Amino acid sequence: MSEQATYRHPEKRNRPDNPIQRKPKWIRVKAPTSPEYHKVRELMRGLNLTTVCEEAACPNIGECWSKKHATMMIMGDTCTRACAFCNVATGQPNPLDPLEPTNVALAVGSLGLNHVVITSVDRDDLADGGAAHFADVVTQIRAAAPATTIEILTPDFKEKPNALDCFEAAPPDVFNHNLETVPRLYPSIRPGARYFTSLNLLFEAKQRMPGLFTKSGLMVGLGETREEVLQVMDDMRSAQVDFLTIGQYLQPTAKHAAIDRFVTPDEFEAYASIARGKGFLLAASSPLTRSSYHAGDDFAKLREAREAQLKSAAE
Ligand code: SF4
Repeated sequence: MSEQATYRHPEKRNRPDNPIQRKPKWIRVKAPTSPEYHKVRELMRGLNLTTVCEEAACPNIGECWSKKHATMMIMGDTCTRACAFCNVATGQPNPLDPLEPTNVALAVGSLGLNHVVITSVDRDDLADGGAAHFADVVTQIRAAAPATTIEILTPDFKEKPNALDCFEAAPPDVFNHNLETVPRLYPSIRPGARYFTSLNLLFEAKQRMPGLFTKSGLMVGLGETREEVLQVMDDMRSAQVDFLTIGQYLQPTAKHAAIDRFVTPDEFEAYASIARGKGFLLAASSPLTRSSYHAGDDFAKLREAREAQLKSAAE
């Protein structure tokens, strides 16, 4: 972590302390110990790459890395936003690393992945929000590992009207952007973002690149109501989102937003079933679901679901 990464944005610094609640038994996970976990760690360090798995203190890291599934976070470890749920450091980021696209592609090739997820910090300081750099990463992975399918989990590119142009020449297989929470909670949870900017990004991505899958995710347990979650599902379907993920919000530190409640496994299952009824090709909803959790297996399911849909439309 760079020295700049320890800077705390005033929005984060001035937040009141929120005591961290004890997790229910369905949330607890084992500490990472497998040899594969350590190999992935060394590879990332050796290539100077950052992962959201570590930066976000993801509870699934032991499971994911033991399967060599790591989500690389590009464009540095310092974000220009200060979302109340996110553990990534906020501050003035370093300039982009021109070697990063090549190094990410090398890591994907070394890990021998069928499917990779690439995400990034928000880079409001860059004229295109980092879209061209993101697209370069996609291009380099395609060249180094042509059999690997690519999922990108992007920022909202707010006030960067040409950002999506960059991806038209380098489309990913999955375009993922998380709405994160219900619109009522945006001012406190995602103050730098706008709900309809995010929704529109997903819609635009699908309009411009109809062959790709679009995906979005929600955290629950932040104080949203069930009706609000169902309304977000409807909004996502209006934006033609294919795949919905829903997981429990976990509070990273006392300076982050407090957990309102732990949503039960049965409630998560009910959300998945409602989402399927609303027409999502796929819905993953469980306490430990994260955007990139089981992303490779889910991509195979998405493909199957689309093929089945096309087949039934042709009959
Ligand atoms: S769920 Fe995603 S962020 Fe968490 S460890 Fe797995 S790949 Fe990393």
